[in-house]
Amino acid sequence: MPDSLEVATVSPDETQRLAKKIGQILNEGDIILLSGELGAGKTTFTIGLARGLGVRSPASSPTYTIINEYDGRIPVYHLDLYRLESLEEMEVIGYEEYYFGKGVTVVEWGDKIESSMPEDYLGIDLKRLAGDDNSRSFVFKGSSAKIDGLVKSISKIAKEIGLSVKEDG
Ligand code: ADP
Ligand code: MG
Repeated sequence: MPDSLEVATVSPDETQRLAKKIGQILNEGDIILLSGELGAGKTTFTIGLARGLGVRSPASSPTYTIINEYDGRIPVYHLDLYRLESLEEMEVIGYEEYYFGKGVTVVEWGDKIESSMPEDYLGIDLKRLAGDDNSRSFVFKGSSAKIDGLVKSISKIAKEIGLSVKEDG
């Protein structure tokens, strides 16, 4: 059973602090699929992640362009699939260049391509928490032993910065 980990944040700043620390431990070839409704915090998280990867000024969501590339300590490919209507469109984008490239790939609306992912990836499900506009839950899911290792590291990071953490597996 892959491990899963749930972390809660109580502000956008806290989300970015968590994401930045995660960005610092990512490596070439890592793929992250973010899933969750509009406003869940996918872009906020991605910006923090990019900062942790050494990107100076990550743009906001690339909704109209589908892909943004940022220069960090390694390249960061930020995809937003909000407007993606079919998996065939992914072929047109030439996504393999991103997935198999020498960088970190972060995908908003990643659930749209989850079923066809050929590689290991870290899945993160984001949602609002009831009762507080500024609370969000992040569920991190491993899809392989390698990613389970990453999930364990994220658990450690979340505890170090004092976030509330629930573990399973
Ligand atoms: P998405 O990309 O999933 O549509 P965004 O990151 O663009 O979501 O927007 C999230 C919105 O929610 C932002 O306006 C952000 O300031 C707000 N927000 C409030 N609390 C949080 C939190 N804990 N984490 C992330 N964003 C939060
Ligand atoms: Mg977004």
